[in-house]
Amino acid sequence: MSLSFDPDSLDLPRAHFIGGTYVKDEGALDLSRPSDAQPLGTVPVANADLVDRAVEVAAKAQRVSGWGACQPRDRTRALHRWADLIESHATELSQLEAVASTRLISQLPAIDVAVTAEQIRFFAEMADKEGGDLVPTRDDQLGLIMDEPYGVVGAITPWNFPISMAGWKLGPALAAGNAVVLKPSEMTPFATLRMAELSVQAGIPAGLVNVVQGDGFVTGTALTGHPDIGKVSFTGSTLAGRAIMENVARTGVKPMTLELGGKSPQIVFADADLDLAARCIAGSIMFNAGQACVAGSRVIVEAKVADALAAKLVALMQPQNPGPSWLAETGYSPAISARQRDRIDHIVQAAIVNGAEVLCGAAPMDLPGYFYQPTLLFGVGARNPAVTEEIFGPVLTLQSFADESEALELADHPTYGLAAGVFTRDLSRSLRVTRQLQAGTVWVNRYGRSRDHILPTGGYKSSGIGKDLGRAAYHANRRSKSVLIDL
Ligand code: NAD
Repeated sequence: MSLSFDPDSLDLPRAHFIGGTYVKDEGALDLSRPSDAQPLGTVPVANADLVDRAVEVAAKAQRVSGWGACQPRDRTRALHRWADLIESHATELSQLEAVASTRLISQLPAIDVAVTAEQIRFFAEMADKEGGDLVPTRDDQLGLIMDEPYGVVGAITPWNFPISMAGWKLGPALAAGNAVVLKPSEMTPFATLRMAELSVQAGIPAGLVNVVQGDGFVTGTALTGHPDIGKVSFTGSTLAGRAIMENVARTGVKPMTLELGGKSPQIVFADADLDLAARCIAGSIMFNAGQACVAGSRVIVEAKVADALAAKLVALMQPQNPGPSWLAETGYSPAISARQRDRIDHIVQAAIVNGAEVLCGAAPMDLPGYFYQPTLLFGVGARNPAVTEEIFGPVLTLQSFADESEALELADHPTYGLAAGVFTRDLSRSLRVTRQLQAGTVWVNRYGRSRDHILPTGGYKSSGIGKDLGRAAYHANRRSKSVLIDL
């Protein structure tokens, strides 16, 4: 059966999901389809009163259902059922996502949906295996570290991988015994709403997963500043992360996981397998048209192989079948919006004015949607805007180095430290360089996550605080209470 579908045939949920039911609301923000720029109707914006209601419902459901206090294995079972339902609704969820986002129907079921179900299962299995501790004290005393959920987690996700990001937030928060109020990006809310509905069908008590739609300014601010949110879990830009830190500081004190922007380097040494390096690098910047937080957008290559690598990259950076995200044959994504496409072009043109040499691309594509050509820029200095700015588009810069210390100097970004890649056949060098890289994730002779969900992800510097995925994400959704009993 073909994965292609008719985007006009979908019944898009245009409401909030609170307490296990859809809550209708007036549409307030206009949407358009990134693939063909056609209007996609409007989405509502939850105001502070509605956010208040969602948080109240979540807090009550978490208390009354006993979700946080139940036998942990019951949470495990319910989350497994939810993961199964997500998987069995892969087609529907993928279509809801593809119509509004840049994700392709050719990739969604096998990548976004299947991996999200796996990750939920990973966290489900932690619920009855991680706990508190009995600690050494005097013999006539008992010292305990009790491990408890926060109550209600306030989560906010970006538009670039909506299903995956919802899974990253909901999986560990629910497994750890919390309720969640989640605000998806105002540009891509549909699949998240349906995931929430499926959670109730799976037997997760109504009110445990709530989705409020809206923008960052109104809905996001109300959510992160709400006094009954025990913890904030955010993925998005560094700019918004800083605004959230300010809002949280202004309205109270609560822990935050912040997964923010990146400008990740990929260092290629002369002894590397250049074909492998070129495939990984081109793949990382072409996937979702570079709209990935960990996109390896800065190539730093040893001078003697720079020309050879550049030639291989130019050959690989040809977009395969750019087109509507709802057609199975499409292999290259648009930018999310006209604004984002224009921003990409603005930075590329500024880079050229500042001395960049164009090896390929550097212009919007002549298609109905918001497509931008895969772009490779050479001859860029450390202050060139294409090197300093997170472009969030299919744009690679190429800088060359003479020795290892210069490579590390170029790799070190003043603001970001999300991920990095190293390509070399020298194991000692790979470890030496990895130790010195200022990045929360380093990939050696590969670029991109695997299905090893045990590996946490998160940034150094202004790329974030805390981790998603891995054991760390589960523990970040629990807090500890120290107890000392005189016997
Ligand atoms: P964005 O920061 O504009 O928006 C992200 C989310 O935050 C949206 O839901 C938005 O409505 C909300 N928001 C915006 N301002 C807010 C505020 N002041 N208070 C509360 N909520 C607010 O980011 P985006 O354009 O949707 O996504 C792209 C960004 O996300 C890039 O910078 C990318 O690197 C980052 N990202 C990071 C990771 C990671 O794991 N580190 C993963 C994916 C995306």
